[in-house]
Amino acid sequence: MKKLRLATAWLGGCSGCHMSFLDLGEELMELADAVELVYGPLVDAKQFPGQVDVALIEGALATTENLELLQQIRENSRIVVSLGDCAVTGNVTSLRNFFSVDDLLTAVYQAGPGSRPGGEELPELLPRVLPLHQVVTIDAFIPGCPPDPERIRTAVRALLQGEPVHLSAEQRTFG
Ligand code: SF4
Repeated sequence: MKKLRLATAWLGGCSGCHMSFLDLGEELMELADAVELVYGPLVDAKQFPGQVDVALIEGALATTENLELLQQIRENSRIVVSLGDCAVTGNVTSLRNFFSVDDLLTAVYQAGPGSRPGGEELPELLPRVLPLHQVVTIDAFIPGCPPDPERIRTAVRALLQGEPVHLSAEQRTFG
């Protein structure tokens, strides 16, 4: 049986959603029989590797790098999934939207104890943090901060069967 090509990506998030994905535990072994993980923080791939079947995206859009990567993923993925509340709503990452980028950088790097890094050290921040569906079409949403492994399991099983993701009412609850 031909394996599905799976990618994961880590945009503006804390990596907690990837940790929850790893909490699938032994099911990851079964998953390995059905999918080939071709991109993401869990594999050593520097470039997005062309067409994939499913892409699970953690984190909101916070930087121009995030935006470029998401657009590349959308163009090269059959199914794109928002994984976790930051991807779905902006969540924690979007708390900076209460401030302008300039005020934020001043508060963090000048008024605060640090010094502002120069040149290429700091990724270029978008004016506002955005959830993914405000920029590209998203095919499925897995809410939660992080989504619990059971919720991820339900969604991944459906995606592997080529079925729509239907989470139960309890699983759709944000939190
Ligand atoms: Fe981290 Fe929660 Fe955002 Fe996932 S949804 S990246 S766990 S803050």
